[in-house]
Amino acid sequence: MIQMLQVCKQYKNGVIALKNINIEINTGEFVFVVGASGAGKSTFVKLLLKEENPTSGKIFINNKDITQLKQREIPYLRRNMGVVFQDFRLLPNKTVYENVAFAMEIVEESIKNIKKQVPEVLEMVGLADKQNHYPNQLSGGEQQRVSLARAIVNKPQLLICDEPTGNLDPDTSMDIMHILYEINHKGTTVIMATHAKNIVDLAKRRVITLRDGEVINDQEKGGYSLED
Ligand code: ADP
Ligand code: ADP
Repeated sequence: MIQMLQVCKQYKNGVIALKNINIEINTGEFVFVVGASGAGKSTFVKLLLKEENPTSGKIFINNKDITQLKQREIPYLRRNMGVVFQDFRLLPNKTVYENVAFAMEIVEESIKNIKKQVPEVLEMVGLADKQNHYPNQLSGGEQQRVSLARAIVNKPQLLICDEPTGNLDPDTSMDIMHILYEINHKGTTVIMATHAKNIVDLAKRRVITLRDGEVINDQEKGGYSLED
């Protein structure tokens, strides 16, 4: 599903954030991308979202080299991706329901589908009873669940999470992880950048470890400790 071939990223200030990355991720995988602060995790995520372009190399998503996409083709790429960030990024003046519905309105879904799917996805993340709350009336964990609901409501093939538990306490983080595993179980490929060692070690999933912009480890059922 995803292939990076000799991908390098150097920012304008000269910092080399990623060096010669060669990886392949198959449909249905759950993959952690780990490493210390500055290792290149966010850059990795930004390249997949095409928020940044690599300095050299190719990035294939579903056999299409996204480095060659025209500007007008980018919305179609993103339509297949859900994204979750550390800081939730909800719209403060919209309710839980409206935040999730908005993601469907943007892709011009019918009112009928919106009315059907928003309650379904809110049920899945355990927020059926908070549909009319505003983000500032929710705990951090609840806000992240809204953000997850919004990310998956259009049924993307790929869910990309950048430090999704970074602002949450350990128990709340595990709740979020269980929702992510369920989403993955239903067929969505999940890529999660994190430095939450305890979560990665418990998960026994594939772990790609970055250090100073290089992949130093790529293991099935890996652990964070392998970094050392
Ligand atoms: P991580 O997410 O693992 O903390 P990043 O991908 O954010 O790593 O950063 C990798 C390296 O690239 C760091 O040295 C960081 O300072 C640098 N970097 C990140 N974004 C930019 C940018 N927009 N401009 C210049 N340097 C950047
Ligand atoms: P946490 O301790 O996890 O940060 P909070 O104390 O913020 O959680 O919230 C606890 C519960 O109360 C949550 O379910 C949240 O939705 C609800 N809540 C918090 N503030 C409000 C509010 N202003 N109006 C309605 N419900 C609220």
